[in-house]
Amino acid sequence: DCTIEGFDPELAKAIADEARRQEDHVELIASENYASPRVMEAQGSVLTNKYAEGYPGKRYYGGCEYVDVAERLAIERVKQLFGATYANVQPHSGSQANQAVYLALLQPGDTILGMSLAHGGHLTHGAKVNISGKLFNAVQYGVNDAGLIDYDEVQRLATEHKPKMLVGGFSAYSQVVDWQRMRQIADSVGAIFFVDMAHVAGLVAAGVYPSPLPHAHVITSTTHKTLRGPRGGIIVANREAMGEAGEEIEKKLQSIVFPGIQGGPLMHVIAAKAVAFKEALEPDFKTYQQQVVRNAQAMAKTIIERGYKIVSGGTQNHLMLVDMIGKGVTGKDAEAALGKAHITVNKNAVPNDPQKPFVTSGLRVGTPAVTSRGYKEADCVDLANWLCDVLDAPGDEAVIAAVRGKVEAQCKKFPVYG
Ligand code: PLP
Repeated sequence: DCTIEGFDPELAKAIADEARRQEDHVELIASENYASPRVMEAQGSVLTNKYAEGYPGKRYYGGCEYVDVAERLAIERVKQLFGATYANVQPHSGSQANQAVYLALLQPGDTILGMSLAHGGHLTHGAKVNISGKLFNAVQYGVNDAGLIDYDEVQRLATEHKPKMLVGGFSAYSQVVDWQRMRQIADSVGAIFFVDMAHVAGLVAAGVYPSPLPHAHVITSTTHKTLRGPRGGIIVANREAMGEAGEEIEKKLQSIVFPGIQGGPLMHVIAAKAVAFKEALEPDFKTYQQQVVRNAQAMAKTIIERGYKIVSGGTQNHLMLVDMIGKGVTGKDAEAALGKAHITVNKNAVPNDPQKPFVTSGLRVGTPAVTSRGYKEADCVDLANWLCDVLDAPGDEAVIAAVRGKVEAQCKKFPVYG
């Protein structure tokens, strides 16, 4: 039997169960989305069979003429999408793209200045448990009492520690970052300005969030979050922002991805990236991203009206952090209670969180996935109210059951894959 179901029923059941979970649970994890059937078709294609070490036209294997077409399409489209003059579409993930940037442009022991995980940064921006925090001397900035990046503080840290690289970007920050100010800070100490735009890449592509491309020397992203492509990473840059060092930076980036840290590129994933970039160049991608932000703002407003605090007071992008300090429920317990109600979120540390990272006092909530399903503001207001019903009574099984019923009915109205 050549089907998974016939050959491996145990695994087939796990896949079918996951497909059902995605249909009848509402997905509010800010880093998740639903790739299109076309993206998944590319990922399931024969391109998975091909070794193609090297780059288009310069491979270490024969038979690469067709995968070269796929990779060139991905490169040209992502350049067009972000106004980039340089693109590498081979990084297997966001973390590998970031690792490539560090290893290409820094020496072990160099100082980097990035946003702390506890305040909304990513593990790869210098956290102690990540290679970025082990291999480099990582100094971390955070947010002020208003929940906003304090650029004077970033400048003070830069002046004091003289980092070789300033890292911009975040996993849990709901406001606009002033990329230009960040570049000025980097320039003031002769640092490279690197932006990891993984979370907002889709918004940036659609012009609904400021682009770091005119300001950063180098930019990475994942392709599976707001960008709605396959799971993977990219590196992009613009020569104008890179300045004189541009050519050398590009050379270093190319050789660190391959042969530096990766072997054969995942050609099926690169083909899927090409499909996703084409989708993102369509006019309705802009409408989608505008709706993502409107939906997030509708949810934030409702959650605030229900008496919960949103870090920074609201959102200008696709996500928000609910601060539950003093509310008598931890992030861990809220995540579990909401899970029972078929609302999927992740617990998340909030600034000055008294709880440990595995417990936390916060939730991260995002709208890219529900917006892909077709939710509009009114649906998101309903959803935010149900979420707050559970937060108000996380131990009340009757409340949880009632919310689950409403969530399931709403999910049925908006099928993911139809
Ligand atoms: N960068 C940021 C800002 C992220 O939020 C994430 C994922 O959560 C990553 C990088 C890592 O991406 P990946 O999971 O593909 O390694």
